[in-house]
Amino acid sequence: MKKNIRPSKLARREFLQAGIGTIGVIASSNYVLGQETKSSDKPKFPGWIDAHSHVWTPDTDKFPLGAWNKKSELKPASFTATELLGIANPLGVDRVVLIQHAPYHGYDNSYVLDCAKRYPGVFSVVAMIDERLPKVAARLKKLKQQGTRGIRIGPTKHADRTLVKDPPKWLEAKGQQALWKAASKLNVAICPLITPEFLPSLDVMCKQFPDVTCVIDHFGRVDVGQKEELKQLTKLARHPNVYVKVSAFYSKGKKAPPHLEVIPMINQVIDAFGPDRLMWGSDCPYQLNNGNTYKDSVALFESRMKGLSKNDREQILRDTAKRVFFD
Ligand SMILES: [Zn+2]
Repeated sequence: MKKNIRPSKLARREFLQAGIGTIGVIASSNYVLGQETKSSDKPKFPGWIDAHSHVWTPDTDKFPLGAWNKKSELKPASFTATELLGIANPLGVDRVVLIQHAPYHGYDNSYVLDCAKRYPGVFSVVAMIDERLPKVAARLKKLKQQGTRGIRIGPTKHADRTLVKDPPKWLEAKGQQALWKAASKLNVAICPLITPEFLPSLDVMCKQFPDVTCVIDHFGRVDVGQKEELKQLTKLARHPNVYVKVSAFYSKGKKAPPHLEVIPMINQVIDAFGPDRLMWGSDCPYQLNNGNTYKDSVALFESRMKGLSKNDREQILRDTAKRVFFD
């Protein structure tokens, strides 16, 4: 490194481009040290994968907001990919699945796709697509070519903030049928953000499209203590291609660290799906509010769930998301 270059900026950039932080390597040292490898054989990304985070940029000239938004109302005003990695890398997380943030960007996936392009291998993308418009398959194919591995869907609002016409029948709509069919053909995951009352409608769809990889956000929004709702979620384990994100702890139970009260629910989800169909996600920047932290989110699986085997931990914190969103 040349001495006349200001170190802070360059060091930070190199650190981020490398995609791993020092602590990230230490946290995953078992994985690396467990094998007899030459340094060149070391995995490029030995750390954990965050299967769910959002990002946005104050550069709204290049990446415009939806018409319903004002730049002054972004909260936080900036949460770029670089800022996210600045939090994640020191905690052993070196890859992230970026989830399109419709409240700010609607169907314009350009920022998350741009991040994936600028940090090769570091980010995977779950985008959004307007399934009501024609040529869903062709548009999905294009998104996939640009780096998209999943499509986010929801039963009440479209990404442009218009309301879904008939929420109880949201998946029966022509557009959804076309989208699932195309997703099956193109091997793109469908990622529903749903509340528990919509779990039965998903059950029907997963039966109809057994080849579609379906990744349910945040335990299907089931909260600690909701026995019936949890039953609806675990019932979906009968479909082999259904996965669950064990994520968004700021919204569960006491809504505060150390999140230990969520553990019994996690164990029930592990019993139903197995760790190889579960993936941890932070849901940043939302996990960074009201005393909740990224560290507390990772720590729940990394050190606070004493009953987890090394393999369970590695599946949930890395390997499941790797198979679904990176391989
Ligand atoms: Zn989210």
